[in-house]
Amino acid sequence: MTQQAHAERAHALLGASKAGQWINCPPSARLQETVPEKRSEYANEGTAAHELAEIKLRRRVTVCNSKQRKALDKKLEEFKLNKYYDQEMEDAVQNYVELVEERYMAAKARSSDAVILLEERLDLTEWVPDAFGTGDVVLIADGVLEVIDLKYGKGVPVSAYNNPQIRLYGLGAWAGYNYLYSIEEVHMTIIQPRLDNVSTEVMPLKDLLEWAESVVKPAAVLAFAGEGEFCAGDHCRWCKVKGNCRARADENMKALEHEFKDPALMSNEEIGSILFITDQLKSWAKDVEEYAYDQALKGSPIPQWKLVEGRSNRSITDKNAAIKAFETAKLETDKYLKPQELFGIGDLEKKVGKKVLPTILGDLITKPPGKPVLVPETDKRPELNSLEKDFENVEV
Ligand code: SF4
Repeated sequence: MTQQAHAERAHALLGASKAGQWINCPPSARLQETVPEKRSEYANEGTAAHELAEIKLRRRVTVCNSKQRKALDKKLEEFKLNKYYDQEMEDAVQNYVELVEERYMAAKARSSDAVILLEERLDLTEWVPDAFGTGDVVLIADGVLEVIDLKYGKGVPVSAYNNPQIRLYGLGAWAGYNYLYSIEEVHMTIIQPRLDNVSTEVMPLKDLLEWAESVVKPAAVLAFAGEGEFCAGDHCRWCKVKGNCRARADENMKALEHEFKDPALMSNEEIGSILFITDQLKSWAKDVEEYAYDQALKGSPIPQWKLVEGRSNRSITDKNAAIKAFETAKLETDKYLKPQELFGIGDLEKKVGKKVLPTILGDLITKPPGKPVLVPETDKRPELNSLEKDFENVEV
């Protein structure tokens, strides 16, 4: 696939990447249909990472003659000029490629006929009208079909469990290859290398097909027709109308209607139940603000609100000329130049490499205990109990 092809992966009305939305909130698909897509820098970065992953995987796991290998090596060198390419992308994609290779080797160990397919177009139309997807990697061996999806982003951890997008890829891969292979189990893997996050959902084929018939098909019929009930939830995060959706607003306003009784001060139990909705309300408030700002910029102002010039900071137009001016003025350098400073660990990892950095700095990298955070009791981390013991080295 070329870079353009990676960027233009078909966006059907009921695309697999939006399945969480249209399965949970079927009318959301038609509602967003005419809202233009905002392509973020993160999306472009993800596209570039997929392109790099494909070149590397073709070079490592597919059969290619010396001419094809040379062409791939050339592509790899050319890719390094991509504006999104840096050491962090190199390391993350390399990790992903090594994991895929491991899975492929394990599949080959189970069966010498193991097959690997890259950037496979997956036909989902057996369950979803007009829908196609692209499987980054499809592995088939010994009755097991595995689909692997690269997620380059690191903002939100994505799990393969109960994930409609990767399940649809599993279905599409099965639909495409069941005439050739007898498949009993489907493994659906998401690799998010920048978060060291790898998860695999394993489903017997019959369970996956049952999910497709009982959940996907009916939701797809409603979504295609623009019918069904609006339903707000976590799936609103990527919805294009999340800032002005009435159903989401109603849901959040309902959450605020909680009635608290006397006495004047709330109990800790009441605070506990409010904390469950604060994150939801914060992200909704941010989405509404962004929507209103966009509208105002587009010339559709929001009544009672206006755009004004924000604060700005003075800046030096030409830093080299400014340094020369200070030199001419014979000022000591410490009056106008900052002392040299080390980058933070995140930047050092990006520039030096995540694996190389610890080999250079060794024990100079330390990780102090984290500041206590308040999380719901369902969180997997162990509870910090004793104020004296657990918090003794922590700056609060
Ligand atoms: S914001 Fe949420 S509730 Fe509203 S249409 Fe989108 S997915 Fe549905």
